[in-house]
Amino acid sequence: MSKRVVILGAGFGGLELGTMLARTFGEEVDVTLIDRSDSFVFGFSKLDVMFCRASIEAVQIPYAGIDRPGLAFRRETVTAIDPWARRVETDRASYEADVLVVALGADYDVAATPGLAEGGNEFYSVEGARRLSGIVPEVESGRIVVGVVDAPFKCPPAPSECALLMHDELVARGVRDACEIVLAMPLGTPVPPSPETSAALLEAFAQRGIEFVGGQRIASIEPGRKVAVLDDGGELDFDLFLGVPKHRAPDVVVESGMAEDGYVPVESATLETRFPGVYAVGDVATAGVPKAGVFAEGAARVVGERLIAEWTGKDAPPPYDGRGSCYIEFGADEVARVDIDFLSGPERTGVFNAPSAALVAEKGEFGSSRRARWFGR
Ligand SMILES: Cc1cc2nc3c(=O)[nH]c(=O)nc-3n(C[C@H](O)[C@H](O)[C@H](O)COP(=O)(O)OP(=O)(O)OC[C@H]3O[C@@H](n4cnc5c(N)ncnc54)[C@H](O)[C@@H]3O)c2cc1C
Repeated sequence: MSKRVVILGAGFGGLELGTMLARTFGEEVDVTLIDRSDSFVFGFSKLDVMFCRASIEAVQIPYAGIDRPGLAFRRETVTAIDPWARRVETDRASYEADVLVVALGADYDVAATPGLAEGGNEFYSVEGARRLSGIVPEVESGRIVVGVVDAPFKCPPAPSECALLMHDELVARGVRDACEIVLAMPLGTPVPPSPETSAALLEAFAQRGIEFVGGQRIASIEPGRKVAVLDDGGELDFDLFLGVPKHRAPDVVVESGMAEDGYVPVESATLETRFPGVYAVGDVATAGVPKAGVFAEGAARVVGERLIAEWTGKDAPPPYDGRGSCYIEFGADEVARVDIDFLSGPERTGVFNAPSAALVAEKGEFGSSRRARWFGR
């Protein structure tokens, strides 16, 4: 058989697909998994780093040693993609594929928001979280604004988690009374597909004195005046701005001509792009689901099941159902869960599971099971 599969990006989507194919076919498949980074970091670990609950070293899972029969990891930067020819150029080599899977995630465009780089901080990258781990423990007073500049953005509950964990941090150091916390985002409620989850978060904010400003993009930051300017011209003054920057598909994807309206359109049921033999999964794609790791992983699994069925002569698997569970840090050492279903029924649903200590353990198991499956450690 020896199909050549080239997977671009070793995040949630790329790791799940590469592992699945190598586990199923071993040396009978030739999977190349390419990523510019030397290690994987779970999205939620960035909050742990920012709030000094874990060191960078503890949350980085090196790709070294990930190779197994059928799967070869290459630490290279993808510089060009020709989706018609299924040909990829990197800073070191070129590849031709029978099946090409684009799983390059979403990049951040900090410069798209005037003043953000100079006057704010972002906590969505590993570097941004690391930087904040030196700033957050020093806050003793003032107004902290957690601000989402634009939608769509990864993991819609994450800014709410940031506000709740900031509250805990300030309480623990006895300075909460000297501080205000504001959360501003373009979404009208914290988690729109789940009114129950949004209501529980809004209640938690009210109990903790966190102000929620919904339905507003942040147009710019004025570093000199320490003000975040909202879409409608309103202003939020701050002493510390914790930002979620504008997201966009990586440049190499845009330059390949695969993107429309910023991301790669795919058939939601199959994750196929309009280019034969080319799939896109995860944050880089527009599959009709939120941008979150659990959805990238689910989409990758559907691609894997389709390829396995095709190559072994089995029936095609069911379409992608757009289901996934996201864990939400609620502070006070509790975690909630929202079970999202975007594609399987006539309506989008999001069922809320109240915060509990049991869900803390479940979230831990979510991370450790992926780590064991993808990295064998
Ligand atoms: C603070 C925060 C909290 C989060 N919490 C959760 C959560 O609790 N649950 C959840 O499900 N999701 C969560 N997420 C979202 C989650 O991290 C992402 O949605 C997920 O990682 C997307 O998976 P992906 O495979 O599409 O892309 P990614 O995991 O982003 O992987 C893309 C990969 O492509 C690589 N890459 C990009 N460009 C190039 C290039 N030119 N050449 C080579 N390699 C390249 C990158 O290095 C990266 O490894 C959170 C995100 C953040 C920021």
